[in-house]
Amino acid sequence: MDKIFIIGNWKCNPTSLKKASNLFNSIRRGIEDVKNAEVVICPPFVYLSLLGAPSFARRRASYGGLVFGSQNCFREERGAFTGEISPLMLKDLGCKYVIIGHSERRSHFLEKDAEINKKLKAVLKQNLRPILCIDKISQIKRGIKGILKSQIKKIIVAYEPIWAIGTGKACSFSQAKRFNLSIKKVLGKKHPVLYGGSVNSQNALGYIKESKFQGLLIGGASLKPKEFIKIVKLLSKSSY
Ligand code: PEP
Repeated sequence: MDKIFIIGNWKCNPTSLKKASNLFNSIRRGIEDVKNAEVVICPPFVYLSLLGAPSFARRRASYGGLVFGSQNCFREERGAFTGEISPLMLKDLGCKYVIIGHSERRSHFLEKDAEINKKLKAVLKQNLRPILCIDKISQIKRGIKGILKSQIKKIIVAYEPIWAIGTGKACSFSQAKRFNLSIKKVLGKKHPVLYGGSVNSQNALGYIKESKFQGLLIGGASLKPKEFIKIVKLLSKSSY
């Protein structure tokens, strides 16, 4: 099996640099010796530089699989767009991944597939890897419209049933597997697909072993260092 992806989405947390540093340092120390997993930490934009994203990108080899990603980005590179952060800036800061179309962006900020499509193109243009969150197959088709096949391959898809996000009601392994297979029917058997929605250390392995996902997108549990480290270790030690 290809490398497992474990994405930690901190959302709008924690609320101070001190707390963010403590959280990050605990995770970094806890997974120092982990191999065979790409662990992507996605903190709020304001912490990226302060947590050392640029130097992590330069000295990647010495930190196992730990890299930085962002939770969102703007569709343009630069210009008169007050308050926005572009993929070019994220690349310069050392990000390797960008979450696009998270259900909280879709619901709270009314992001539509057409906008998500533009963001995907902007991220791919900078040679960053987008993590496209969906909970319906139609969102893939509209999201990748006009993107070359060679570029589509670089998009990691995260299946996140809305009702499972942050609710403690994780999707059953069998239902998640069915959705995984439906996504692969559209994008190809080997396309990287992740699961997200109330993942914890009890259910994490099941999504890999039983539902055959290539990794996980983790919200709440990524803010609990012990739990997150446990998940990373469980997944990186197992053979599938
Ligand atoms: C998420 O933020 O995408 C997510 C899946 O959150 P949680 O793990 O808390 O359900």
